[in-house]
Amino acid sequence: MAELKLSESRDLTRIERIGAHSHIRGLGLDFSLEARDVSEGMVGQTQARKAAGVILQMIKDGKIAGRAILLAGQPGTGKTAIAMGMAKSLGLETPFAMLSGSELFSLEMSKTEALMQAFRKSIGVRIKEEAEVIEGEVVEIQIDRPAVSGAASKTGKLTLKTTDMETVYDLGAKMIEALGKEKAQSGDVIAIDKASGKITKLGRSFSRSRDYDAMGPQTKFVQCPDGELQKRKEVVHCVTLHEIDVINSRTQGFLALFTGDTGEIRAEVREQIDTKVAEWREEGKAEIVPGVLFIDEVHMLDIECFSFLNRALENEMAPILVVATNRGITTIRGTNYKSPHGIPIDLLDRLLIITTQPYSADEIRKILDIRCQEEDVEMSEDAKQLLTKIGHETSLRYAIHLITASALNCQKRKGKVVEVQDITRVYSLFLDVRRSTQYLMEYQKEYMF
Ligand code: ATP
Repeated sequence: MAELKLSESRDLTRIERIGAHSHIRGLGLDFSLEARDVSEGMVGQTQARKAAGVILQMIKDGKIAGRAILLAGQPGTGKTAIAMGMAKSLGLETPFAMLSGSELFSLEMSKTEALMQAFRKSIGVRIKEEAEVIEGEVVEIQIDRPAVSGAASKTGKLTLKTTDMETVYDLGAKMIEALGKEKAQSGDVIAIDKASGKITKLGRSFSRSRDYDAMGPQTKFVQCPDGELQKRKEVVHCVTLHEIDVINSRTQGFLALFTGDTGEIRAEVREQIDTKVAEWREEGKAEIVPGVLFIDEVHMLDIECFSFLNRALENEMAPILVVATNRGITTIRGTNYKSPHGIPIDLLDRLLIITTQPYSADEIRKILDIRCQEEDVEMSEDAKQLLTKIGHETSLRYAIHLITASALNCQKRKGKVVEVQDITRVYSLFLDVRRSTQYLMEYQKEYMF
């Protein structure tokens, strides 16, 4: 492996769909690490968010090595949301990988290989390279829908003046995502990495202001006759160790990154990559970006997995490990012993424990409001009240699911605003856990012979 392959991974477009946690943009803390009531998509759970903030500070001060965090609390109390908020607060480049304890036993690879892949998915490598970039001036930006309160609008139209006609296409969404709505404006000079399409803001147009000095000494400019600019520049890419593993694994190839079907990766490949990355670090060409690895249902791991975690935490490149459980005292899988959260004592000893609390109706209402905005769903006040009641009596997650379903129902009847009738309709179509168990209990005689 003389030349480590990187370029393919740059071509990967990270598609962000509206996932269950897409509204979480951070922990919502102020400068003194106090939790704001509603901020960065986060609502309530102030003690846990504050504690997570203290841990972030420890991470930034380099005082977390060898330790991990345990989030303990009932289902749907925001454990995953908090882990994701931590990753987001560490910066856009910080990798976040998520794995559920039970998943490990259904994958077509050994448990420890699956854990190893998860670890390497949450370790980023920031690589600096000389590359050709195209540069253009933003001449017009149109936001085609008003920003919803608190969240920047993600759609927009951007017209780009550039020397390379191929890049003159609608880059609005990417641009807004990269720069933030408020920051992107006409006259901005941006660089586009040819390989990945990644956009970086360089500064303001030459003709409009003279603040090019702020762009850093590595920037070399050539003024073209038509007033547009081209240059070669040092660009920085962030990939995960896992991505480098996969594209350098002869049996896999980079397409496996899309399908997720990476299979087992040979230990030699990883060793070579680690050596290469260590060389780059020595030469100042790369830096390690420790991300966050979140393992949900940690009580489902067995003793073999726990010893792997103990060892992996000792590694100098270890990501921040956050585990979560909703169990109290239970058996450690693979043994006859019981322990708190089903976690062996030696690992428990390394854990900083944060608990999450059930939500009040008011908090549920606020989370539902945020989710409606995120999913672009307009809902009447009555419908929101009903959905809040349902969330309070069943579960927050169930109520969140009903937003999407009721919006579809509303669309079907050609309505614009989700009303009580849409909520009641989907409430009768989809059962929550309590009603579904009740149903099965009532009818169990007919099911069982
Ligand atoms: P489980 O134990 O079942 O894995 P969990 O504790 O990890 O549950 P989440 O998946 O984080 O719960 O929460 C359920 C849903 O509610 C998610 O969509 C999450 O983003 C959202 N949510 C939970 N807590 C908050 C919060 N404090 N602020 C905003 N959204 C939240």
